[in-house]
Amino acid sequence: MTEIKKIGVLTSGGDAPGMNAAIRAVVRTAIYHGLEVVGIMEGYSGLINNDFIEMHSHSVSNIIQRGGTILRTARCEEFKTKEGMKKAYQNLINANINALIVIGGDGTFRGAHTLYKRYNFPVIGLPGTIDNDLFGTDYTIGYDTALNTVIQAVDKIRDTADSHNRLFFVEVMGRDAGFIALNSGIACGAEAILIPETKTHVHDLINILDYEWRENKKSLIIIVAEGDDAGGAYSIAKKVKQEYSKYDTRVTVLGHIQRGGSPSCTDRVLASTLGFEAVKAAISGKTDIMIGEINKKIVFTPFENASKYNLKINKNMLDMARVLSL
Ligand code: ADP
Repeated sequence: MTEIKKIGVLTSGGDAPGMNAAIRAVVRTAIYHGLEVVGIMEGYSGLINNDFIEMHSHSVSNIIQRGGTILRTARCEEFKTKEGMKKAYQNLINANINALIVIGGDGTFRGAHTLYKRYNFPVIGLPGTIDNDLFGTDYTIGYDTALNTVIQAVDKIRDTADSHNRLFFVEVMGRDAGFIALNSGIACGAEAILIPETKTHVHDLINILDYEWRENKKSLIIIVAEGDDAGGAYSIAKKVKQEYSKYDTRVTVLGHIQRGGSPSCTDRVLASTLGFEAVKAAISGKTDIMIGEINKKIVFTPFENASKYNLKINKNMLDMARVLSL
């Protein structure tokens, strides 16, 4: 095992609030342990293009409260090619970097796993994604902030919906996973929640909306995960409107506001903890793993499992949401 003297850190894939807090924790913990730290700009693109910057303690001052990522992020197709990854590896070696810490989602971990497998290069991952769709951690960095952004927006929509007798379809992020939709839906008292993990039938949805106990409701809110099988919020709203005209129907797509903003306390603490532990794990020779927190304990999960295993949605929560929004 090579002694770790210099580490690289990058953020990759979709940005998530709390990535900066994670970078800060990695940089400061590494410096505390006498390591040099290199920031790699724009994810794997920066690795290939040699876009490296020396990081000092002050490089990460005043960023813990900021959304986005000071190292910027990118999606990099070239890293998926053999030649691209080879260039990246050679740049790591030329810069005398002994270990890499990547902050991102499942795609980022697939890349990191391949880098380790092909070149035996030490890599550790931090779960940075608003989707909460990684196996091996209760929560991903950014998820809590995104949920809070959604509930603030939906609460505002509820005020106007209630004043006008409106049925609102609110689309939230989640191409493959319904965690944001399910949890924000419960927190906002949504009358229905549509997620990719369950089949959506428009007739059943109308029956739910038209349920007799709901007949005196002044507004209805349906949270739609963008990856729902019946289509996005616009398409579902159109189908419902054709058969159900009791309410004035409106659609709001929350979009990228869900990614931005100052990270919540929960995300800052999670990012700080995982960054701190990731450096210690790298020093102790761990590699090819994502670091997470389960039941308040630090857990290491092989990259392959973190991005491969499907997380299950708790269907009881969907039933509960329906009962509580009667
Ligand atoms: P996220 O990490 O948020 O899931 P992406 O899926 O876009 O985001 O992945 C981020 C980057 O990880 C990609 O742009 C690419 O550079 C790299 N990556 C993803 N899958 C692979 C793969 N199979 N092999 C090598 N690199 C990959």
